[in-house]
Amino acid sequence: MASKERAGAGSVDEPTDQLALRRANLSRTLRHIRINGPRSRAAIAAATGLHKATVSSLVDELLSRRLVREIGTEHSGSAGRPGRGIALSPDVGAVGIEINVDYLAVHGSDLTGRTVIEKRVSFDAKGRDVERCLDDLTQAAQRTLAELVRRGVTPVGLTVAVPGLVDVGRGVVVLAPNLGWRDVPVATRLAHGLDPDLWIMVDNDANLAAQAEYTWGVAAGTDDLVYLTGEVGVGGGVIVNGRLLRGADGFSGEVGHLPVEPGGSKCGCGRTGCWETKVGLAELVRRATPDVAYGLEQGPIPDPEERVAEVLRRLARGDKAVAAAVAEVGHWLGHGGAILVNLFNPRVIVLGGYFAELADHLIPSAQANLARMAVASTAARCHFVASHLGFTAAARGGAGVIVERMIEDPTAVSLAPAPTLAVAR
Ligand SMILES: [Zn+2]
Repeated sequence: MASKERAGAGSVDEPTDQLALRRANLSRTLRHIRINGPRSRAAIAAATGLHKATVSSLVDELLSRRLVREIGTEHSGSAGRPGRGIALSPDVGAVGIEINVDYLAVHGSDLTGRTVIEKRVSFDAKGRDVERCLDDLTQAAQRTLAELVRRGVTPVGLTVAVPGLVDVGRGVVVLAPNLGWRDVPVATRLAHGLDPDLWIMVDNDANLAAQAEYTWGVAAGTDDLVYLTGEVGVGGGVIVNGRLLRGADGFSGEVGHLPVEPGGSKCGCGRTGCWETKVGLAELVRRATPDVAYGLEQGPIPDPEERVAEVLRRLARGDKAVAAAVAEVGHWLGHGGAILVNLFNPRVIVLGGYFAELADHLIPSAQANLARMAVASTAARCHFVASHLGFTAAARGGAGVIVERMIEDPTAVSLAPAPTLAVAR
């Protein structure tokens, strides 16, 4: 997610497509307000170098598209002229929904970044076939979108976060081993049950969470950052020089399937000895609390947080076997972390999902093994830190990419047009 102000389009005498120029300047104006906060028209003109009349016209269009609003506060720009402030609108927003093996997480926020809805419910994805999952996902989307509207925010789009390989362009989940999904056209399927004007995107959960971390997280703005999410599976998002690394087909970041133990345990992907068989939540639970391991459930499956809480309770009681099991998982976390450090030289590895909740117990052994295994001496400068975005980081990142798309191309947003305003294009 771009958090830096980008250069705008060229000068007005550039003999290029006027529509593209207009779009770029609308985006530039919106981004300027997003980064700098409410600004007067005069201040925007002074900071961007655009003519005041152009800024006025751009602001009029953004007002008609309901992407900004006027606020009473007077702000002085560098030109020293006070004017009515133009602020991002809290009336439009976006939704992110993460589907995972054992939960659904939803996040709704408005254009200003304010969280409007945030919740997580346990969800047994493995116990449902794909069609049933998609029905339930559609209903969860409908409920969340309706709730956002009830709270006065018009949703422009929705992103579904999935733990697997995603063809982002087509909105198809190519493979999600832990869900048992292959070639599932999630975007098309969801579109049948939702407003046809709604933007629907599908992306990898860890990629979205990495973008959320880079934008709002504990290490926000750190240009070389690796995000790891510990769920039943383990996902990763790699940010290099401020940009998410996607790879030729968009499938990078499948760190959970790094082969770390030849001949090791069978993984959900069909291979053996993958990293997530050593550090995934199922493995932690199997080692630390074997009496309540995955697959032994008698009734409804426990929420992942309940499983982690049980591990924490036993740690607090001083259970040495549990402490040893957690330290062993931490050791393997450092093992895979060292591979990532050797490859990408990140400044920080942000731990999300269950890793964050157990961070105090995992990081000491992880950091020690990282220091031992990373080749470069500068590896000592890469630290594990716990995310504070919680289990909804991916959903939050999902809402964030819709907001980013609105800012990238404000002309794509058409919400109840205001007929009294002529839109110059
Ligand atoms: Zn695997």
